[in-house]
Amino acid sequence: MDLSFGPEYEEFRQTVRSFIAEHGEKSPRNAALRSPEALQWQKMLIENGYTARTIPKEYGGYGGTPNMLHSRIIAEEFADARLNPGLGGQGISMLVPTLLEVGTQAQKEQFIKPTINGEMIWCQGYSEPGAGSDLASLTTSAVLDGDEWIINGQKIWTSTAQLADWIFCLVRTEPDAPKHRGISFLLFEMSTPGIEVRPLIDMTGAANFNEVFFTDVRVPKQQIVAQRGEGWAVANAVLSHERDSLGNPNATLLRLNALIELMKTETVGGNRLIDHPVYRDRLMQLQGRVMAMRFNDLRILSSRLNKDQDARLARMIVKLQGTELRHDLEGMAIDIMGEVGLSYEDNPYTRSGGSWQNQYMYFLGLIIGGGTSQIQKNIISERGLDLPREPKIEKSA
Ligand SMILES: Cc1cc2nc3c(=O)[nH]c(=O)nc-3n(C[C@H](O)[C@H](O)[C@H](O)COP(=O)(O)OP(=O)(O)OC[C@H]3O[C@@H](n4cnc5c(N)ncnc54)[C@H](O)[C@@H]3O)c2cc1C
Repeated sequence: MDLSFGPEYEEFRQTVRSFIAEHGEKSPRNAALRSPEALQWQKMLIENGYTARTIPKEYGGYGGTPNMLHSRIIAEEFADARLNPGLGGQGISMLVPTLLEVGTQAQKEQFIKPTINGEMIWCQGYSEPGAGSDLASLTTSAVLDGDEWIINGQKIWTSTAQLADWIFCLVRTEPDAPKHRGISFLLFEMSTPGIEVRPLIDMTGAANFNEVFFTDVRVPKQQIVAQRGEGWAVANAVLSHERDSLGNPNATLLRLNALIELMKTETVGGNRLIDHPVYRDRLMQLQGRVMAMRFNDLRILSSRLNKDQDARLARMIVKLQGTELRHDLEGMAIDIMGEVGLSYEDNPYTRSGGSWQNQYMYFLGLIIGGGTSQIQKNIISERGLDLPREPKIEKSA
């Protein structure tokens, strides 16, 4: 089977490779938010159309015509060369595409450019102590007072809230409406008086997410996306972009290749793990899943090119498949390393700076974040396979 994209696209691939050969060494090692290297690299990628490729020029993007194969080639070549593909995060990956779909002209002009440039960092205020999987039960309230919303309530598990400049936040504005119709989608600055951020330490040992408390936080009335009470549709648009971004087959393939290398160097009783039949068998099972993920990705790609094909189901499985596969893959590396697999942080015996352990824990988080695996399975079975919907159990008063 010939899986190349044809001569025209191979020429484009050569252009990307030339860029990588000339500039690849500038790819930042320190990709921390707001680091000068990361911002400089981002600027260069946008100017050359290697990130923000289809975002219109008027909003700070490259202004290219959408072409799925060009985007795919760029992603493949950057992954193969192990280059930073540009900034991501909740603002760039989730909010920007949503604003392009449903934002006002003023919102697009105000927010998209600084966000894709990495100068405006966002966090996502969805989950609450009583609203996670059942997100529509959220109770943080926003009451209109003249030209301002007054917000009271609490969010939880808010990633990067401690660093964010702005938040996109779900609030209840119509308390008497059915729960899905009473929600609005607001944008506001994290420096607004009345916001308190308290860090939560996760199992990696870092405080990657937070609790965020709102006490009489005043937000200008026009900082709403879509109409009041229509925030649920906006929230779901954001979630679909989030789920799409959580199963990158190129990154998974790179990690699989790193696992194979590890199995060639780690030994038990003087024998390489790659030659051990049990571990080899486990490796092949993972390899099969990585291949399946790559072909599922190609199916999504071809359905986007040939609009008559329906890839809804193929898209629904990406988050479930991608996050669970990565977690299993990182976990296998930990098994292979034996007791060294249990070392962490500054232990001198730790391999690859502890990245296997860190990613194992990180991907456990991603199995939960953006909708848990159980919820993904419900969505796939009900909306993708047309199985009966699970009964709705009303919460007791
Ligand atoms: C690393 C990480 C980052 C996150 N970042 C953010 C963020 O930036 N912003 C934000 O708003 N939130 C964030 N979250 C929160 C995340 O969206 C929620 O944790 C997730 O939606 C699950 O909600 P919950 O934790 O309240 O669990 P619950 O909804 O209480 O679920 C508990 C368990 O019950 C299961 N369950 C619940 N309902 C059903 C059902 N109907 N059928 C079958 N099983 C069910 C779940 O699968 C889960 O196993 C993050 C979470 C993690 C782990």
